[in-house]
Amino acid sequence: MCETPLLEANRIPVCSACLSSVTPLAADYFCAACQAPFASPFPLDENQLCGICRRGARGYDRCYSYGFYEGTLARLIQLLKYERIEPLAAVLGGLLSDSLPRDIVFDGIVPMPMHWTRRYVRGFNQAELLARDLSRRTGIPVIEAVRRSRLTRAQVGLSDHHRRRNVSGAFAVRRSDGLEGRHVLLIDDVLTTGATAAACAAALKKAGAARVTVMTVARADRRLAPSVPLGNDRPLRAQSNIAGGC
Ligand SMILES: [Zn+2]
Ligand SMILES: [Zn+2]
Repeated sequence: MCETPLLEANRIPVCSACLSSVTPLAADYFCAACQAPFASPFPLDENQLCGICRRGARGYDRCYSYGFYEGTLARLIQLLKYERIEPLAAVLGGLLSDSLPRDIVFDGIVPMPMHWTRRYVRGFNQAELLARDLSRRTGIPVIEAVRRSRLTRAQVGLSDHHRRRNVSGAFAVRRSDGLEGRHVLLIDDVLTTGATAAACAAALKKAGAARVTVMTVARADRRLAPSVPLGNDRPLRAQSNIAGGC
């Protein structure tokens, strides 16, 4: 990452200075439920909830992320996913564990499933590696409850509306036994709009899960990005602070 020669053999080809340069989420205003960052307090109500959470339109109950998908953190996630440096899952799993709320009891960890054809091509599902690492650290069991029943096109470049349509109904629950009345922790590497997490959470709840908390290593900082209002493909810059979040 910084091109400094590494002095010792390591399974992770990233120097310790780069590894320790990741920074946790920082913003002046956050939604209390989905952690969406805002540039001003105005989108939040007296309970510190954003508009989407106020309407209960998220599909999941809470959402936590370690940091923004940028800089070192983004690069580490890319090294894991695309360069297949699997030992990085332990580094990123440590960050997940750091951001896990200590006052909530979770009954099981569910990794965001990947369609089997994608998993076959990549050789692993990064969400599964992260979930297993977090499980080792916390003792919370991994529940392989959901699978991706439909191969969806990549979400990159799609508007919020089309992202939600693209993934709706794409998840099937394999075993409902372990989910009835449970508080599930759904793990993924990156949260962009939250459309995929919402669709997966809906499938988990349909199978009996009482609560679904989403947790990702990183989330997109959409405060400055032009946002696309639902049902409209034209980017609308002026509204970006208000419509931000997952
Ligand atoms: Zn370095
Ligand atoms: Zn919210």
